[in-house]
Amino acid sequence: MMPKLDATHDPARRSWVEAANRADSDFPIQNLPWAVFTRAGEQPRGGIAIGDGIVDLKAASEARLFSGAAAETARAASAPVLNDAMALGARSAAALREQLSDLLRADGRERARLEARAATFLVSMQGAQLCLPVTVGAFTDFLSSIFHTKRMGRNNLPPSYKYQPIAYNSRASSVRIGGETIVRPKGEFRAEAGEVGYGPESSLDFELEMAAVIGPGNALGAPIPIAEAADHIFGYCLLNDWSARGIQRWESQPLGPFLGKSFCTSISPWIVTAEALAPFRAPAFKRDGDDPPPFSHLSDEADLKEGGLDINLEAFWRTAAMRSRGAAPTRVTRTNANALYWTFTQMVTHHTVNGCNLRPGDLIASGTVSGPTDDSRACIAELNGNGTMPLTIGEEKRLWLEDGDDVIFRARAERHGHVSIGFGECSGVIGPMVAG
Ligand code: CA
Repeated sequence: MMPKLDATHDPARRSWVEAANRADSDFPIQNLPWAVFTRAGEQPRGGIAIGDGIVDLKAASEARLFSGAAAETARAASAPVLNDAMALGARSAAALREQLSDLLRADGRERARLEARAATFLVSMQGAQLCLPVTVGAFTDFLSSIFHTKRMGRNNLPPSYKYQPIAYNSRASSVRIGGETIVRPKGEFRAEAGEVGYGPESSLDFELEMAAVIGPGNALGAPIPIAEAADHIFGYCLLNDWSARGIQRWESQPLGPFLGKSFCTSISPWIVTAEALAPFRAPAFKRDGDDPPPFSHLSDEADLKEGGLDINLEAFWRTAAMRSRGAAPTRVTRTNANALYWTFTQMVTHHTVNGCNLRPGDLIASGTVSGPTDDSRACIAELNGNGTMPLTIGEEKRLWLEDGDDVIFRARAERHGHVSIGFGECSGVIGPMVAG
């Protein structure tokens, strides 16, 4: 079932953590996203963001701040990765969200007692280092934006595009949280003139994507029906599917991308729960009248009505020179997750329709979230017309990413009558090429 609105979404609710009440905060009391964090010399453990702080779920557990299913969930989330806590399912996550929202609310009954003890369970974000929140057992990358698919295919769609969500199995071992250096890959490519070469990738690109993080999995041989698919999605994060276009072009026939994608993928450290996004659901993509309707296993009334997500996504690009003089990064993309032709629930159902099993912590990425307009092109290959039109970044010209450039993704869900929530950042700076 799609998550529903309850008191935790109440726009009037404020927190005694003052920074959470600022209009531009990504982490108001209505959000409460999950991450894993550590501080010098300490074990990584789960935490939940509130304003400029992190609720330390291990410390809060030990202080017995929660009861029932919420206590069980917080205990599971005290581990160095969140797979086991996410596997408990939406009801457990909702129980924790409900109790934590009550503990943090400005008009809560126990406010004075909690505020006095805040130092024992509330950590400053500034002093904390965020870690990969889950052990990523599998990472699947879909191709759910019809606009991206058309631009990249010079207006041709693959024949099955409107019948089923298309995906490939990408690499899980090289998924990292944002903030790390992206090492320029080396590989084989074919130059314009036709000769084949080997060396550092010169056409390095980003792809602005969203990913669903799987909560409870399914058994091998037991597909997830579309009406139950939402129960298997714990939450969502931003994802940068860094792409080496030269390597990708040369290697992709007939089996699809391999080394052009597997060198590194960045995700945002904060996982926004599906429940937090309940106010920002949107109808599924409106298909053209002559598009084939999805087969019955991919079609569901609730999914049609609210299977989409209304989330604004932005990509920023900054050169090393801009960074050294403190200049603001150049925004190159402004798009929305509601541009996706397929919903995440359709992707999850399609993924399992052959009996394939998903496991807690698996990443199901949307593919590049490009929209119909020029400013919503969500990768460089679209923005530069497949390498033909340089972009202006700050005061410099760029065709592709150069060493020292960084890319920053941000996302916010905004809707009239609701408190906006954000995803934090997913960033990466391009470093020199891989050794050897
Ligand atoms: Ca991709």
